[in-house]
Order: sequence, then C-alpha cells, then structure tokens
Amino acid sequence: MSREHLAATVEILNAARRFYLDFFLAHPDKLTERVEVISKKTGEVRAGVISADNLLTWAEFQTIETAEHPDPLPDWNFSKAFPDFPNRYRRSVMKDVIGKARGYLTTLLKWQRSGKKKGKPGIPTASNYPTLYAGTFTLELDALDVRKSFIRLKVYTGEAWVWVHYPTLYNRYFERRRAEPGWESAAIHFLQSKTITAKKIVESKRDPDLVTVAVDLNVKQLAVITVRQHGVIKETRFVSDQGLDQHRYRHLGRVAKKQWQSGRAVKGERSNQQLWAHMRRQNADCAHQTARAIVEVCETYPGCVLVFERLRKIKALGGSKSRRLNRKQANQLKGKINQYAKEKAYGIGVVSVEVNPHGTSQYCARCGGKGVRFTYQAGQRIAGKGGKLFFCPVCHYECHADFNASVNVHHSFFREYHWQPRAQKSG
Ligand SMILES: [Zn+2]
Repeated sequence: MSREHLAATVEILNAARRFYLDFFLAHPDKLTERVEVISKKTGEVRAGVISADNLLTWAEFQTIETAEHPDPLPDWNFSKAFPDFPNRYRRSVMKDVIGKARGYLTTLLKWQRSGKKKGKPGIPTASNYPTLYAGTFTLELDALDVRKSFIRLKVYTGEAWVWVHYPTLYNRYFERRRAEPGWESAAIHFLQSKTITAKKIVESKRDPDLVTVAVDLNVKQLAVITVRQHGVIKETRFVSDQGLDQHRYRHLGRVAKKQWQSGRAVKGERSNQQLWAHMRRQNADCAHQTARAIVEVCETYPGCVLVFERLRKIKALGGSKSRRLNRKQANQLKGKINQYAKEKAYGIGVVSVEVNPHGTSQYCARCGGKGVRFTYQAGQRIAGKGGKLFFCPVCHYECHADFNASVNVHHSFFREYHWQPRAQKSG
C-alpha cells in the first residue's frame, strides 16, 4: 500500500514539475530578465540575471492563491490544479524546474544564433527524482534502536497528501525500496540517538559500582573484550578471526588477478562476483558472531555500559592490490562488528558509548607511560610496529598489545590519563 503511495507521489511531483516547466517556458523574458545585483562582498552594483529565489517569489505570486492575493493568473492557477500540495514539495519542484528551463533557453538561444537547421534542442522533460526538504519528512526515533526508527514522509495516496511511516535504511526491505529509482533521497541519518546516550552515560558514570565492558577491535584478534569494575579488570575475552583474514587475502589475490586478466572467469572456477558474495557472507557471519560474543559478555553484567573506540578511517595505502583490498575489507568488518554489537546490546537494554581512540594503543594501561610494540625472537624483544606484544619502559609492564589497548578504552571512558584529551566529551 505504502509502495503505491510512493509511486503516486512521484507521479504527482512530475505533474507539478510539468506545470511549472510550461509556466516558465511561457515566460522566457522573465527567466532571462536582467536586474541590478548588489554584491554582498563589495557592495558594487552591476547588471545580472534575476536570481532563482526572486524568480520563485515572482512565480508564486503568479500561481498561488493566498489570503492577501486571492487571484493568481487564471490560466496558471497551481492552487486549483493541485489542491493541498505541500509547500516544500512545490518549492523544490519550482527550483528544480527553474534550472531546467534556464538551461534549455540558453542552449536554444545558442542554437538559434548558430544558424544551424539541425540539432534543435528538445524541450526538457518533467520527470525527476523527488527531493525531500525539511517539512516533507520528519524523523521518529524510538529510543536508540535503529531497527525501530522510522522516517515520516509526506506522500500522495492518489487522492490526498498523508504522512506515512517508512522504516529507515537498516531494514533490508527498505533498502530494496530505496534502490528503486526516485527514492535515493530517503536515506536519512539520525543524530538524536547521541543525545539520549550521552544522558544515560552521565547518569551511569556517577554509579560507583558501574561495570564497563570495553572492546578493542583489531584485524586478527577481532575483538579483545575486557570487563572492569571498581578499577579492576574482572574478565577478559579474546575473539579471534579464526583465519578469516588470511582466507580473505587469498580470495582477494584471485580477484585482483582476474580483474587484471580482463575479468574472465576460468571454467570451473568461481567468478569474481561469486567470490565477492562469498566474502561478503563470510564477513557478515563473522561480524554477527563477534557481536554476539561481545553481547554475551554484557549479558552477565546487567546494567553495564558497553564502550567502543570511535572507529578511525584508515586509508589502505601501500602494498599489493590484494593487500589494499584486504585492509579495506577488514575495516568494513570492524564497522559491522561495531554496528551489530550496538544493536544487539540495545536489544538487551545495554547502552553503548564511543570514546576517543587517541593513544589507546601507544600508552601503557598500567602507568600511562609511552610504550613500544614488540615480538619475541629467540628470547629477544624485537621492537616493531606490527608487534603483538606491548612493553612499557617506565614501569616494565609487558602484555598482549590488544589487551593493553582494550584496558585503555576504559581509561579513555573515565578520562583517567594525561594522554586522553580532556576537552572532548565521550558519547
Ligand atoms: Zn607502564
């Protein structure tokens, strides 16, 4: 039913566009009127073409019935032709059409001056994607759960304009509907969730018995989950990727090679499309599993707060094509784990919060000193960026680097160390 409304809306918007396109083309002199334009910067006055805003105001005066102006042009009475048409939609249609009509007139003039007989520009078409402006949609946020969020769109039923709820983009059916021509603009993000979280977090921070569950997301140790209460780490859980990274890397090697070989699949081998689908499935499964593990930990500590680092956008630079592709996939996986974990946590009533990721992997979780990463080779510490272990030269603390980072996420949440910027609020 709502789908048909969307179709009816597109149709009536196109009809309105047709109306105004005809109207403007019937008044070409106005469209190209030269007026005095005062520069906002220099105050200079020069001659210029009438602005779109002024044209819009002029056109409204000619076509819209208002209390002060009850008689628009009889042949161009939009209010009669399109009763109750939402003002915002109408203005978006008008602005859209002003651009189209002007473009058409310019090319027409050029063509006329050129003296050619062929290639007369065609009259522009009225169909276009509807654009949503403030007022034609509102957002109804049902607390924090993105799956329960809706946008309200004003749509045409064929008889009247009504508000209809459409689920936001996390729903796969909506995703599909959104993919249909005309509704790209319905992808709306919501920011209200942040304020709600922030309030709850402030309350929670006052509770001296608060349990925090911190997650450090990485490539091979996908998630290192640490649980802290009264300043002590009570539980740690490592979720490994079980070889997914390696596995994906091999597949990507094949993908890159095939792309290089003009994309033809060898008989009996999986096509790139199949390989991508396979990898997507694996990534999604892995993200769900990891998110589940995170939320399982939360479940054992009712009233806990789930803390993540704000994900950094890491550019996959350097290395082979398959390596770069693999980094990209790994980053996407992190994003998915983060998203799914928050959704699942919300499902069991656990609030999640993001903290500043600054310094969590470089500084010592025990004393706050600047440490180094290293690996052991033949009993010797070999320092290096890719090292799995962490060593603090200040207090001589040694531990798994991802564990150290995970513990630092708690510090970040409580802003306990000097390396944590104080000005910014978490959440
Ligand atoms: Zn230390």
